[in-house]
Amino acid sequence: MKVYNWQLNREMDYKYQEIHPQKQVTWVFDTNKCIACQTCTMACKNAWTSGKGQEYMFWNNVESKPWGFYPLGWDVKLLEKLGPQPWNGDKYAGKTIFEGAQYGEEILGYAPDEKDYSHPNLGEDEVNQQVKEKEYITIPHQPWMFYLQRICNHCSYPACLGACPRKAIYKRKEDGIVLIDQKRCRGYQECVRACPYKKSMFRTNTGKSEKCISCFPAVEQGKQTQCVQNCIGKIRLFGFKNNWNEPKGDNPIDYLVHIKKIALPLYPQFGTQPNVYYIPPIHVPEAFNRQLFGPGAKNAVEQYKKAYEDPDLTGLLMLFGSTDQIISSFKVEGDINNGYCAGYDDKGNELIKVPMKEPIIIREEYDEQRNVRRFNVT
Ligand code: SF4
Ligand code: SF4
Repeated sequence: MKVYNWQLNREMDYKYQEIHPQKQVTWVFDTNKCIACQTCTMACKNAWTSGKGQEYMFWNNVESKPWGFYPLGWDVKLLEKLGPQPWNGDKYAGKTIFEGAQYGEEILGYAPDEKDYSHPNLGEDEVNQQVKEKEYITIPHQPWMFYLQRICNHCSYPACLGACPRKAIYKRKEDGIVLIDQKRCRGYQECVRACPYKKSMFRTNTGKSEKCISCFPAVEQGKQTQCVQNCIGKIRLFGFKNNWNEPKGDNPIDYLVHIKKIALPLYPQFGTQPNVYYIPPIHVPEAFNRQLFGPGAKNAVEQYKKAYEDPDLTGLLMLFGSTDQIISSFKVEGDINNGYCAGYDDKGNELIKVPMKEPIIIREEYDEQRNVRRFNVT
């Protein structure tokens, strides 16, 4: 069937008809602020995958690009199979994984080996090129790397769902969360093979596949997901996105994705219309960013670099990691030096108000209230 994929700016083939959920769970990750502490990874692991048969599972992982992968080579293997991925302006002119399927398969994919899952930290902190002996680093320097945070994308056109012969995978109409019905799953692993992000995983002791459930018990209570709540770097924001053609200016996700276009999908060319969006790393070569995040990468980097000129954008970036609650709308008051950004829930109640500029407080050497002197001992 023909469906419209706004990330490709064209129609494409998909197994089922185009249906939009009432609202869509969405994440925005600012790659520039991540410190690869893996707190998100452990928060998710402790919440959902600490059981038998789940030892190797990381529904959330953070990998160093360009050499980090979990499972090994997940993206390069598929990119190679897919062949050239040209863009004509902002329209994708190559094939998606649904259109590039070879004879005898429905969706272009591959099944990882067991050993592909054995090194979750492979490539950690490795730069793109070898720094040779006696070479010294100049500014700006050539070696680069960055951290890529990865979870299931709760795609609008999920490959896992399209591939399942048991119809065990479904997308909830109330919030777009993609789930695997454990009662229906028979462990054929077609979802593992088809998911281009390799975020559906097989559990041997139950004989069924499992994946990120978008912390739905929390989301149903108006809370952001575990990986967002626990992020040390405050790089993450979770919320609900409206359709691409009816964005709301005060919705934080719509603003970043559709209005400012600063947050971009990962490998849009795969065609699943993923719902995790990334602010691209500003120090990475444009061609690499473009392959990962599509033709909007250059503009996103430019917008991000001058975020301080835009009070709305500056304020919104300060709201990342500021509350456990889901922020439905935001408002900026005042200017960048003295202003505040407030976040509201879906009923308009104020959840949080953050200053646009972090206050700097310099303590006096003599504290009159306590009648003590403070000495700098360093
Ligand atoms: S990322 Fe993979 S597992 Fe998640 S919805 Fe998309 S295709 Fe399915
Ligand atoms: S918790 Fe946040 S800063 Fe730490 S690795 Fe995860 S995304 Fe990065």
